[in-house]
Amino acid sequence: MTTAVDKEEARKRLTPLQWHVTQEKGTERPFTGCYNKFYEKGTYTCIVCDQELFSSDTKYDSGCGWPAFNEVLDQGRVKLTKDTSHVGGNLLLLIANPDIVRTEVTCSKCDAHLGHVFNDGPKPTRKRFCINSASISFHAAGEEKKST
Ligand SMILES: [Zn+2]
Repeated sequence: MTTAVDKEEARKRLTPLQWHVTQEKGTERPFTGCYNKFYEKGTYTCIVCDQELFSSDTKYDSGCGWPAFNEVLDQGRVKLTKDTSHVGGNLLLLIANPDIVRTEVTCSKCDAHLGHVFNDGPKPTRKRFCINSASISFHAAGEEKKST
């Protein structure tokens, strides 16, 4: 697998929390992230590789303690992976509660861990992308890079 970023360079540039969350699938403590209650107009990029991931247009207050988005800027920007690690292989529990299987969200370009997506969000997508502030970087509207 090719990596789009220099991990050594990234390790120096990122804070210990940003590194832990994106590279070790960590989770910042709820209600502590800098973007939890942040609603400026703009674009959120991957903290590691700078790929544009989310728009402020789809950000909403889910009350869960982490930034929540209703949709990704483009489906191809993230990778979704079923994450059953917290169930510990308890198949009966899985069969009884299929909704407890979390889906991990990672950056499609550099594999940085971003957060999880759940299906209890608002219309129209019903999706709740629960993303760590430590995984993303905000760029105010008008300052974002022109991608086309
Ligand atoms: Zn990335």
